[in-house]
Amino acid sequence: MLNWDEPASEHIDYVDRSNASPDSEIAGAKMNPYSLAADDAVSPAAQIDTASVEAEHGATGLEAVEMGASRIHVDDKKIINCRADLNQLVPFKYKWAWQKYLNGCANHWMPNEINMSADISLWKNPAGLTDDERLIFKRSLGFFASAESLIANNLVLAIYRHLTNPECRQYLLRQAFEEAVHTHCFQYIVESLGLDEKEIFNMYREIPSVHDKAAWALPYTQSLGDPNFHTGTPEADQRLLRDLIAFYVIFEGIFFYGGFVQFLSFGRRNKMTGTAEQVQYILRDESMHLNFGIDVINQIKIENSHLWDDKFKEEARDMIREATELEIRYAHDTMPRGVLGLNAGMFNEYLHFIANRRCAQIGLAELWPGAENPFPWMSEMADLNKEKNFFETRVTEYQTGGTLSWD
Ligand code: MN
Ligand code: FE
Repeated sequence: MLNWDEPASEHIDYVDRSNASPDSEIAGAKMNPYSLAADDAVSPAAQIDTASVEAEHGATGLEAVEMGASRIHVDDKKIINCRADLNQLVPFKYKWAWQKYLNGCANHWMPNEINMSADISLWKNPAGLTDDERLIFKRSLGFFASAESLIANNLVLAIYRHLTNPECRQYLLRQAFEEAVHTHCFQYIVESLGLDEKEIFNMYREIPSVHDKAAWALPYTQSLGDPNFHTGTPEADQRLLRDLIAFYVIFEGIFFYGGFVQFLSFGRRNKMTGTAEQVQYILRDESMHLNFGIDVINQIKIENSHLWDDKFKEEARDMIREATELEIRYAHDTMPRGVLGLNAGMFNEYLHFIANRRCAQIGLAELWPGAENPFPWMSEMADLNKEKNFFETRVTEYQTGGTLSWD
């Protein structure tokens, strides 16, 4: 435990700059995001090595502060491989990123604000739900329970380091907190209903169709999370783009939507309404995450058009096709029979429709031209203009002031 009496040197991972020459870039550059543990000693040689790597590969925001350096101009800012100081938020270049940060903050919510008593009595009533409804509910909980943490880890440990823009990072920090809220939300549902938490949280290891979606995405983040990975070559920059497509466009933009339809279908039939309300909040957050990811991908394309060649575009379409087929398998596995007015065939059509939209949003040709949306109510649910309606249903007030005590 860190307490105020312990000597700072034992716990704070600063670089001793006393031996560094004034123009050295050592300070801060040794901060390795993968080893922040207090007793992770780093030898001076390793520090210098990391510093020179950072100098070669662009800014992180952890470089030495240069006294009297020239002021930052908007034109110095770049979404990847930027060398300008990343500790200065303004002047803004990507106003869409800042606006999404503001919108995310304006949509703040917490899981325990939502009343779960109707869900609890329905779940505990043996006649309350059919076996198929219980299966679909638990499978989707199992998928989301781990998926939200996986997204958060990808953001913090893989994406953050490589997006070299302060207003985008500001949004990433907001998004990372929202992912924590979402993980909290699924934990809260599991606890409220008295479900077996081991069963739910281990589903992504134990149920093949849940496992397959997480396993599909994992290599993309592992590739970027490698401490030796740096952007700055066309191959490396395409690796970053692949991870952004895998997580924002596919994981949050396709893999989440089967579960959203399932959970919200309960709510539309007046079942598990507390959970459905939680998921409405999540869907609203996720549609902003998705839109942010799409803006980032498109901005990288604008600034680095050489990355978006025909070979890469085909590879991106293949990724989306493969992932959509995986999501269709998941729909069949969770809905062996028709349930809640849904059937697996409707999901085929819906997921083809969604995949087409995702392709169009990042400038790729559609994979299943002509697919139509069998769930038009879903677009209404994701519509950010509906936020007033969401908040009218809130049952508790914020208690931020009430929990603070100086005694
Ligand atoms: Mn989320
Ligand atoms: Fe998200």
